Amino acid sequence: MASFVIGFPRIGEKRELKFTLENYWSGKSDFSEVERVAKKLRKRHWLYQKEAGIDLISVNDFSLYDNMLDTAIMLGAIPKRFQGLQDEELYFSMARGNDTAVAMEMTKWFNTNYHYIVPELSPQDTYKLNANKIINEYKEAKELGITPKVNIIGPITFLALSKRIDRGDTYELLGKILPIYEELLSEIAKLDDEVFVQIDEPHFVRDLEAKELSLIKPTYEKLAKVSNNLKIIVATYFEHSNEANKILLSTPIYGLALDFVHGKENINSIEAMAKSEKVLFAGIVDGRNIWINDIKKSVELLNEIATKIDKEKIYVGSSCSLLHVPYSLEYEEKLSSEIKSWLSFAKEKLLEIKIIEEIFRNGLENLNDELTALLEANTQANITRKSAPIIHDKTVQERLKSNFKLEREDKFEERIKIQHQMLQYPILPTTTIGSFPQTQEIRKARRDFKKGEISKEEYEAIIKAYIDDCIAFQEEAGLDVLVHGEPERNDMVEYFGEQLKGFAFTQNGWVQSYGSRCVKPPIIYGDVSRPKAMTVDWITYAQSKTKKIVKGMLTGPVTILNWSFVRDDIERSEVSKQIALAIADEVSDLQEAGIKIIQVDEAAFKEGYPLRKSKIPEYEKWAVRDFKICVAPAKAQTQIHTHMCYSEFNDIIKTIEAMDADVISIETARSGNELLKVFAKVGYKQEVGPGVYDIHSPRIPSVQEMVEQIEKLLEVLPITQLWVNPDCGLKTRKWEEVKPSLKNMVQAAKIVRERHTI
Ligand code: GLN
Ligand code: ZN
Repeated sequence: MASFVIGFPRIGEKRELKFTLENYWSGKSDFSEVERVAKKLRKRHWLYQKEAGIDLISVNDFSLYDNMLDTAIMLGAIPKRFQGLQDEELYFSMARGNDTAVAMEMTKWFNTNYHYIVPELSPQDTYKLNANKIINEYKEAKELGITPKVNIIGPITFLALSKRIDRGDTYELLGKILPIYEELLSEIAKLDDEVFVQIDEPHFVRDLEAKELSLIKPTYEKLAKVSNNLKIIVATYFEHSNEANKILLSTPIYGLALDFVHGKENINSIEAMAKSEKVLFAGIVDGRNIWINDIKKSVELLNEIATKIDKEKIYVGSSCSLLHVPYSLEYEEKLSSEIKSWLSFAKEKLLEIKIIEEIFRNGLENLNDELTALLEANTQANITRKSAPIIHDKTVQERLKSNFKLEREDKFEERIKIQHQMLQYPILPTTTIGSFPQTQEIRKARRDFKKGEISKEEYEAIIKAYIDDCIAFQEEAGLDVLVHGEPERNDMVEYFGEQLKGFAFTQNGWVQSYGSRCVKPPIIYGDVSRPKAMTVDWITYAQSKTKKIVKGMLTGPVTILNWSFVRDDIERSEVSKQIALAIADEVSDLQEAGIKIIQVDEAAFKEGYPLRKSKIPEYEKWAVRDFKICVAPAKAQTQIHTHMCYSEFNDIIKTIEAMDADVISIETARSGNELLKVFAKVGYKQEVGPGVYDIHSPRIPSVQEMVEQIEKLLEVLPITQLWVNPDCGLKTRKWEEVKPSLKNMVQAAKIVRERHTI
């Protein structure tokens, strides 16, 4: 019997860890309470896996905040500003900052929505092993009678994802951290007669440079030789790792864990694996998405692999950690039973692994009654998914085959002339990104309305009053292009998903995003269409309150896709196209209703980028195509804006240009004009609104500093091309911060404008 999972979620199915941590952080409880809950959760999660029949169960996949942070602590890689602190105070200060030291940076874990803490290294560091967490968790697990597999993040991935404070090459530090890893492994080796160790090296799924490839062999020869009672499995996921696989097979490791769901090309490593006699940990149940597995197909794949590799040398498991999916379907009371039958969250995935493994190992005939029933349900659900009317919508499919508009009629050069005539905005026009502070009052109103505690009329009156105030303030502040403030939106994807056909929402489908933060992504299960206008009433209401231009706010298809669980029975690009057409209808309706500027946010455009360079052109092609489809109905005089939440455009500038928005707003406040330079370098023609102040902090920027920031931007781009706006939406800020900040921003624009027109 041989099944495994790469890792299990830890936040708790009722988000117990989140609430416990937050109570502790706010001083409502002490750390022993956190430890108590953490221990309870670990135990519960191990037992779930044991009861489901999983053979190799991870320890050290648990974390109070993040596994990369845990690894930094394990190595003693403590940035100077935190030295002197100890234990939990040290740990949470590194994660969240404290009164005197800013938190460490956080960034996305590969192409997932999970964020890790970026370790900060320095050539002056002296590393020292701290194996307590790992050893303790191992012992805890052993007491429960399970076979633990110790998870650690591998040294090469650790260095690839870290940064050096002197900006040097992190790999230069490999010689210093490798002895700590060896020491750790020899401590682990003492724990048992035989110990499985899973060393995660997801960095190996990227396009590795020759220098990186050359590090693999010496590193793993060393690690694999630490002790012969260790069974070292190198795990990669999210893509294939064929280049690294080849090298790893020539080292004395025990096996490789490969992702056959998101890295189908890994199949090309099978022959070499067979020759090397290594053990294969085959990741075949999708750890990143929530659809049921096609069990029969999975068994077929395993059988194919087994024509080359001995069955005894194949373990069956998840493609990656189940951290990226919610816990369990058992709390979903509102999802239709039909949709539910197509879904599989972490706990359900454990059983899928078990069934697949049983059939693969012993044949269908020997399956017990319980698993047979599960298999039948699985087969049935996969059949209904192929034909269910709620998934397959003829009208949508016909429209996709029809001759819809792919892009706007006029070229930018012509459009912008007409727009300047029609819209009459000054040079350095001022605007915002869309949302204004989400007050307690509007949050409550939305909640009460959802629960049916207030009527539609009462709800609308509250939202309208907010819009009235928001418009009045913007007029008073002197902004040029106004917004309605987005008070009716809880979230920029959820708001649209709730009104589109083909989307479902869970009650408890939480997934950890970072630390104690969780998100509940919508599920796109079927063909997407828009039954009726989604934003027109609110935007036209706002427009009726002012003579100035109100910008209509929409979320773009790629962002909706990247922040949802997307159906896997058709290509992502097809789903994206369907969403694009639905948004195009909204653009068209807004325009009809007299809205002159429409912004289509693509906040998550960049995070959808594939991990392999060879796959990027394909992604860019359809992502650009779909942005253009959704703004295609806009006439020349209707100005299209887009917004992206970052500033690193060097690699993607040509793609951004190809999206052909008339105006793009981006985040630049924290980096001066550095990141704008690439726009000038490529001769970018469309207008640009680089953020002139950072909205992530409560600080109120002064007129003077924003004048300086705008002047800096003018060193890079001509005044006729620039807009003035904050970095991002203002929904997380308070009115007391937003009001003076925006007034100062308008003032600053005015000063620079006057200076440059005299
Ligand atoms: N229009 C959205 C807002 O202002 C954009 C949010 C975002 O970029 N993440 O909130
Ligand atoms: Zn943003």
